[in-house]
Amino acid sequence: MQNSTKYDVVIVGGGTSGCACAYNCAKNNLKTLLIEKNNFLGGLMTAGLVVPIMKSSTKNYNCDYYNKLIQTAKKFSAQITYKDKNDGWLNPELLKIVLDDILSKYNNLDILFETEVLDVIKEDRKIKNIILKTNLLSIPIEAIYFVDATGSGEFSQLCGCNFITDTDQKQQNTLRFILGNIDIDKFTKFILKIDNNEDITNTYRNERDTNNEIHFTTASTWDSSKIWALDEYLKKGVNEGILKEPDRSYFQIFSIAGAKGEVAFNCPRINNYIENPFKYSLELIEARRAIYRFYEFTKKYFDGFENAIIVNIATQTGIREQNRIKSKYIYSKEDILSAKKFKTPVLEANYPIDIHSDKKDGSILTKTLNYQLPIESLMSDEIDNLYAIGKLVGADFSAHSALRVQKSCMSMGEAVAKHIKNELFSNTEI
Ligand SMILES: Cc1cc2nc3c(=O)[nH]c(=O)nc-3n(C[C@H](O)[C@H](O)[C@H](O)COP(=O)(O)OP(=O)(O)OC[C@H]3O[C@@H](n4cnc5c(N)ncnc54)[C@H](O)[C@@H]3O)c2cc1C
Repeated sequence: MQNSTKYDVVIVGGGTSGCACAYNCAKNNLKTLLIEKNNFLGGLMTAGLVVPIMKSSTKNYNCDYYNKLIQTAKKFSAQITYKDKNDGWLNPELLKIVLDDILSKYNNLDILFETEVLDVIKEDRKIKNIILKTNLLSIPIEAIYFVDATGSGEFSQLCGCNFITDTDQKQQNTLRFILGNIDIDKFTKFILKIDNNEDITNTYRNERDTNNEIHFTTASTWDSSKIWALDEYLKKGVNEGILKEPDRSYFQIFSIAGAKGEVAFNCPRINNYIENPFKYSLELIEARRAIYRFYEFTKKYFDGFENAIIVNIATQTGIREQNRIKSKYIYSKEDILSAKKFKTPVLEANYPIDIHSDKKDGSILTKTLNYQLPIESLMSDEIDNLYAIGKLVGADFSAHSALRVQKSCMSMGEAVAKHIKNELFSNTEI
């Protein structure tokens, strides 16, 4: 552990994008501090139980960290490659150990857990110092560059930054959870019997990396865009009073790498009341009630779930979109749909525009070509030495809904680290 409190880069938030940024800063010999409020890394990937990493384009811009993550997760039996060649199926609990393993190897990278920023001292358009709050101490820190990777924009807010306010539209949030003690072979026989639509339900057994275990994904929504075989069961659950009508809105489950008999749920949805903490807190209580309803429902209706137990409820709420930074370039839906090219792209991706609505048939999933993102969308327009990455990307609401997936968030962290390195080498003073 270094004693100095002066860094080249301070990254606030050790989640999906923050870890990618820290890894690349460390690899590029930048003296780096990573601050995380939890007692482990990973953010939505660990605390939020968000699995798997969504498949996006195969173009390899700023994917060093992603590749390192997959390679290391493999070593800890925390990863599988699914049949669509998506190698981003990870184990959220083991990932905490995987991330420690990746990031604890660098002498020029300090990690502070259970730490938050208490205060920011600015001079004109630059952050000079920050004061950190740990359990017992407050520590002053100096750095040349700062990166907000908090997902919420808490750090940018402390810096007095503004966020983009272009719409009243909101993404629905989700409190994810995991059930264990499931007979997955029995369940996959059941689900394949009732649903033969490969777009919705599919299973996979890979002898090489899963010890011959079977993996699967399936889903159901109340939207009429597709025929959802499971919706008949959900309707029955509602009619018998086990589920409530909104529970039908979105139901998605995946098996988990390296966790035989465990199933990750991408539900229940939560109304987005972030701006009203009282309503928001009531929503969380209702979400846990819904989790118990899903638990009772699956035990009764799904073959293989008879002995299910609740093993984990996310400790970080799945907030899809909260604040987007006012950046030097506000990336737009038109940029995505026209597949606009940029000189030095941060990423190249094709994950669709994906908006989760609370209205039946209101959700949007629009396919795209390969689009790129410029670094200027990660640079604060108000503070010269501040970058904002991951969910905070400076984009309009629709463009954000495509950019927010994990692989793209990681590329943002990596691109900013490389950009800072170039800035430091080309400037003697900022
Ligand atoms: C319900 C849901 C389902 C999703 N499904 C998928 C999916 O299947 N596949 C996919 O690829 N993407 C999915 N996404 C998108 C993706 O998971 C997120 O957009 C992405 O992980 C965000 O990364 P981030 O780095 O911005 O934030 P996070 O990963 O949330 O990281 C933020 C970190 O900052 C820390 N932090 C916050 N405030 C402070 C502070 N003040 N001081 C210190 N630390 C702080 C947090 O503890 C956390 O570790 C989903 C998102 C949601 C919400």
